[in-house]
Amino acid sequence: MSPVTNQYDIIVVGAGPAGALTARTAAENGAKVLIIEEHEKAGTPVYCAEGLSHKGFMDSGLEPVEPLIAQKIHKIKVYVPSGKSISITHKEIEGYCLNREHYDKALADSAEAAGAVMMNFTKVLGVIKKNGVVVGVRAVRDGEEFEIRAPLTIGADGHASIIRRSAGLKRYFDDYGVTAQWTITDLDLEEPDASEIIIGSVVPGAYVWVFPKSKTVANVGLGIRADRSRPAIQVLDDFINSDPRFKGKPRERKTGGICPSTGTLDKIVVDGMMLVGDSAGMVIPLSGAGIHTAIVAGKIAGKVGAEAVNEGNVSAERLFEYHRLFDDAWGKNLRDSKRMLDLADKLTDVEMNKVADMIRQEDILDLVNGRKVIRTIIGIALRDPLFSLRFLSKLL
Ligand SMILES: Cc1cc2nc3c(=O)[nH]c(=O)nc-3n(C[C@H](O)[C@H](O)[C@H](O)COP(=O)(O)OP(=O)(O)OC[C@H]3O[C@@H](n4cnc5c(N)ncnc54)[C@H](O)[C@@H]3O)c2cc1C
Repeated sequence: MSPVTNQYDIIVVGAGPAGALTARTAAENGAKVLIIEEHEKAGTPVYCAEGLSHKGFMDSGLEPVEPLIAQKIHKIKVYVPSGKSISITHKEIEGYCLNREHYDKALADSAEAAGAVMMNFTKVLGVIKKNGVVVGVRAVRDGEEFEIRAPLTIGADGHASIIRRSAGLKRYFDDYGVTAQWTITDLDLEEPDASEIIIGSVVPGAYVWVFPKSKTVANVGLGIRADRSRPAIQVLDDFINSDPRFKGKPRERKTGGICPSTGTLDKIVVDGMMLVGDSAGMVIPLSGAGIHTAIVAGKIAGKVGAEAVNEGNVSAERLFEYHRLFDDAWGKNLRDSKRMLDLADKLTDVEMNKVADMIRQEDILDLVNGRKVIRTIIGIALRDPLFSLRFLSKLL
């Protein structure tokens, strides 16, 4: 295949939420955009528990209707090691369990509707550099290698990003969770509108999620950051077999993958290239959620990218505006969430149970969203002065 040149302003690699929103926004801002996706269509296969807040959904510019959503969520129940659960019902946690194959496809379709061109079944092998500047990508389709050149390349190709690695940026994330998940059917869930999070020694060194897709179907998964001595899928199978709701029920789909827990990487732009979404580490460390951040980042990257190309200046200095704007929007939340995750690592089960006795719904919302983290923790500890000294010295 002969090289493709001068046809596009921007090459977006990956048609997940980050790539679709980047491509859509760049096209809306006048850029000629090519999206390259290695799979047959966006959203398939699914690597996700499919949870998204209502705010996140609305930020993506789509209507929360079937088949994009499977189930509305009105409650989150957090279980601590003692078995006690804390229920959170607040408009901030209202959201959906998605059908991600439909949701991602709809996002990609919206990018195409805005004028972006989709090239499926095409795997990018790495960036092309000229005098240190990224000027395009090498790709393979039907066994044939070829080059595509454009002023700006945007890596939206997930946590293992070949764009990031081939451009000479970070190869691996310093902190990450390994996940495994089954979609289980034939259930009879009591509260299909309630997502569950189970933390602590119920599953040692891990946390479990149960995200219902209906009364009869749920994504049941687990993430492990610390003790990786056993494969995540084995630990998950043990959990499923220990829970009478799930034991022996048909398992429809197995998935899993890596969730970066570092927050945004220090360097996500170089001359001629930007990273968006998981490829840039933009996952909320405490929850492992990355759809909403990918959407916000994509919208900023698409706009800044289109403007930079239009100005004929795709230097790292010019593209840094995107990093700065994303940091203004989400940087503090991600950093505080990472801090919260590191603090949670230090708690014993006994301490976690004690915190569960003292914590209030609004504290959990603040902590999960990375707001007022230190003030909230001190506030919780001070509810029991005897406990507070030991607890605070350990955490702070
Ligand atoms: C098990 C699991 C459960 C999760 N649950 C949730 C959840 O409930 N809620 C939430 O918000 N987040 C969740 N996440 C995280 C979420 O899935 C990601 O943060 C989100 O998908 C990031 O979007 P993205 O567009 O950056 O990357 P991706 O969605 O990973 O998209 C990357 C795209 O790039 C394509 N691609 C990759 N390499 C190449 C290449 N070389 N050439 C061409 N194309 C390529 C891929 O095929 C893919 O389409 C979960 C993650 C896992 C692993």
